[in-house]
Amino acid sequence: MKYTVLFLSLFFLFSCGSEKAKEIPVTYFEASGFTKTPDFTNTLEYCRILDQSSDLIQMTVIGKSYLGKDIPLLMASASGFDPAKSKDKTVILIEACIHAGEPDGKDAGLMLFRDFATNPAWENVLKNITVLFIPVINVDGHERFGPYNRINQNGPDSMGWRTNAQNLNLNRDFINAETPEIQAFIKLFNQWDPDFFIDCHTTDGADYQYAITYGMETAGDMDSALTHWQKEVYLPYIETEMQKAGYLIFPYVMFRNWHDPRSGLLSYASNPMLSQGYTAQRNCPGLLIETHMLKDYKTRVFSTYEMIKNTISLLDGEGKSLKDMRKNAFLFSGDSLALDFDSNGDSTMVDFLGVEYSSEKSDLTQGLWFKYDNTRKATFNLPYFNVLVPSVTASVPDAYVIPAAWKIVAEKLRLHGVKVDEINENTKYKVTRYVFSDVVFRPTPYEGKQRVESFTMKEVIDSVIYPAGSFYVNARQPLLRVIMHMLEPKAPASLLNFGYFNVIFEQKEYTESYVMETMAREMLKKDTVLAAEFKEKMKDPSFASNSYGILNWFYSKSPYWDKNLNVYPVGKLYK
Ligand SMILES: [Zn+2]
Repeated sequence: MKYTVLFLSLFFLFSCGSEKAKEIPVTYFEASGFTKTPDFTNTLEYCRILDQSSDLIQMTVIGKSYLGKDIPLLMASASGFDPAKSKDKTVILIEACIHAGEPDGKDAGLMLFRDFATNPAWENVLKNITVLFIPVINVDGHERFGPYNRINQNGPDSMGWRTNAQNLNLNRDFINAETPEIQAFIKLFNQWDPDFFIDCHTTDGADYQYAITYGMETAGDMDSALTHWQKEVYLPYIETEMQKAGYLIFPYVMFRNWHDPRSGLLSYASNPMLSQGYTAQRNCPGLLIETHMLKDYKTRVFSTYEMIKNTISLLDGEGKSLKDMRKNAFLFSGDSLALDFDSNGDSTMVDFLGVEYSSEKSDLTQGLWFKYDNTRKATFNLPYFNVLVPSVTASVPDAYVIPAAWKIVAEKLRLHGVKVDEINENTKYKVTRYVFSDVVFRPTPYEGKQRVESFTMKEVIDSVIYPAGSFYVNARQPLLRVIMHMLEPKAPASLLNFGYFNVIFEQKEYTESYVMETMAREMLKKDTVLAAEFKEKMKDPSFASNSYGILNWFYSKSPYWDKNLNVYPVGKLYK
């Protein structure tokens, strides 16, 4: 059934000073009595209606999904839609349906854009602010539309699916940018360099009173002025405004024990595989909105609407100073950068607005059965472990040098907008490289990758000849944070951590045991230091009982050994 036929009688009268003035129907969500979300076809149709109804709104396409469908973008502005001519304006980017089963942000955004077109009060705001809105970034996931996609969630009636057509979770792909959907996002990001980002979700987890829990990067993983602005300006404002609007909000936290708020609350820094963790590394404050899965769909969409609307209102006044802070943040000149964070164990007591619950032994599973009673509100005074300190820090080199054979790394850097130079002739650089040992892989795949669970690394300084066609990445450029998160192995979502360098851990040549039996004896005869080392090694029973391991150890001490095994190919150059 065509949506316009279904809800033809419900219109907003257009009253802005637009040439294109037309009647605009209410959104599918509103017309459904706040219980349904439109499928992708109906979503696009409403986007087109908005585009045709107001000069303040334009619809375009940012790229294609894996299955080749257009990913739509709605833009709202009173001064045109050219990013090159919008440098002085504050740009807000809103993303919805990255998890297409969580469509709250899509319906909130469509209502907001309808209001841009119909409420003249917005026209002045849109002179200062450009709003970019991706109603559905995960188009293929959204097309897997049905009532059984979100088992825990209280509506809407039908919704899309969490992953894209490749079964990849797009909200783990921001720094890797493997999927066409996230590549399209990054292209858009590079064009507009947004000043503020909002990603709309619905959370799983325990029951509590809050309509929304929110994430913002305030752990120290952003420039200090931007961190301060988020903590002291943005968050106090948004908390007050949301309270005035009748919605309770709280930081997005983990409970120390799953499902059990009384166990205490943990905060954490989001790494750049996640949307707002990624924009944070591009000096763009990102707000993660997580509506609560058990609240009715109307409450979830309207609270999302309210949070976005209030954010835009604040940025109408704060945009200029935010832009200045962002400019400064890109000039980072420190010698080291913190890449990961952990709680230092300090906590403060906070009131958490929960609901009464009990846990009892399940006679079905013998496990714990949490029973929440949302008719009985309860305030828990809880320890909140919200002091985070750096757990991984890396020194900032003058440049990173990437061998020609690792072109894939250079291409990934370029995709994010990093300036990468190519070396025209064989060049010798004295570089610091990492050498790995004790490498442990995760036993199960993660987003289709075999990730590295843990490793030990040490630094060695070598003179290395990089062949023509290798890549030189000046570290002192605006996207330094992105570069280091990708290239520093210990960064939580580094390319090494995600398995892109796994081949460096594979031994490709082997010794035949009968060849090595002879050679090992000669080596022991010639080299007394080696002989002493061998004697020491043999005290380790696991070594002494592994005959091939012993021969491979002699191989590793011979000149035939692969000098590149377990060595990070990317070098750090300090002038
Ligand atoms: Zn989500």
